[in-house]
Amino acid sequence: MIPVTEARKIIKEHTFTLPPVTLNIAKAIGHVLAEDVYASCDIPPFHQSAMDGYAFVFADWKNKGSLLINGEVPAGTESNVSLSPGKAVRIFTGAAVPEGADTVVMQEKVNREGEQLFIEDELLEEGKNIRRRGTEIRKGDLALPGGTTLTPAGVGFLSGVGIAKVRVYPRPSVAVIVTGNELQSPGEPLQHGQIYESNSFMLRSALLEMGVENIMVDGAKDNLDELTAVLRKTLNHNDVVLLTGGVSVGDYDFVVEASGNCGVQTLFHRLKQRPGKPLYFGKKEGKLVFGLPGNPSSVLTCFYEYVWTTLETLAGRERKLTAFRAPLSTAFSKKNALTHFLKGVYKNGEVTPSAGQESFRLGSFARANCLIQLNEEVRDYKKGEEVEVHLLPVYG
Ligand code: AMP
Ligand code: MG
Repeated sequence: MIPVTEARKIIKEHTFTLPPVTLNIAKAIGHVLAEDVYASCDIPPFHQSAMDGYAFVFADWKNKGSLLINGEVPAGTESNVSLSPGKAVRIFTGAAVPEGADTVVMQEKVNREGEQLFIEDELLEEGKNIRRRGTEIRKGDLALPGGTTLTPAGVGFLSGVGIAKVRVYPRPSVAVIVTGNELQSPGEPLQHGQIYESNSFMLRSALLEMGVENIMVDGAKDNLDELTAVLRKTLNHNDVVLLTGGVSVGDYDFVVEASGNCGVQTLFHRLKQRPGKPLYFGKKEGKLVFGLPGNPSSVLTCFYEYVWTTLETLAGRERKLTAFRAPLSTAFSKKNALTHFLKGVYKNGEVTPSAGQESFRLGSFARANCLIQLNEEVRDYKKGEEVEVHLLPVYG
């Protein structure tokens, strides 16, 4: 059995970033840019009116006091209205300012008598209400550097500078294989000895929550040949395989042996932790295999503590669960010298271990907002003693 810190180190050493792909900008949310992106044109591409109003030459108005309205330009108009001396053009937000005009006045600040325009804006200055060509960005300038995670604003910005496709790091494809003769699908009647299968639903949800959409779910009975065949097939089509159950040392636990049969190299098996003591990690030609425990609570704990960051790294994102130290609201004693991960609730600056810590119990996890890490060496924690809190992603 190896310590938690050692396991984290081994996983990190064997994790890499997937080679970049080209994605349509519409699908790029949350992805990390694999290269710098440059503007394909000036933005705005022309001098643009920022208001509904009138465009004119500032000096003309100062000389003449009033102007004659001559034509109009709605947004998106192709034709290029030009401005003759003493004239003003009716203009709308987003429209190209006519050649020669240098100022726009808001329609709320004018008086119209027929085609005669009287501007009533004491504060108006030359150049006002015009978004000048290239003020956002110039053609060829850096729009966003490689390494940027695309937020909705980033996607909007790049679309707005004319970028239709981007080079990004892909999210990994992930297979989930649940093992166990006792598993029944929710919605079906349970025979004696069966339980409802929940790990695949839970893992799929955890993956979807982090933007991993390429998910394959499969299952195998507690049978070495069947599990080997399923694992071999999924290894061909996925970057990461997550197995649940069958990873201990029982007579019906075949995950480690099946992995060996498929040519997966074991990097560790069994950790000094609770829950999740039997956790397995292996690798085959750049494909990562996690043998997660069977008990749902252990599965999800191991997913957040080991798999989550790994998947983020594959996708080019350097992310960890939000971690900080907070005082315990009650005393807590461990029964052994293993690292413990407790389901907990962090609230008002302190953290409370949930009731129902047993690894088959998910109800406490469903109400928790964090995991509490208690280190190997300390057995008895006092009320008020600081512990490490890892917020679950939806709360972090
Ligand atoms: P195992 O490690 O295969 O012995 O499984 C440990 C415990 O987790 C057993 O009580 C299993 O019935 C349970 N278990 C295994 N797989 C699942 C699953 N997919 N959904 C719910 N419980 C499971
Ligand atoms: Mg089993």
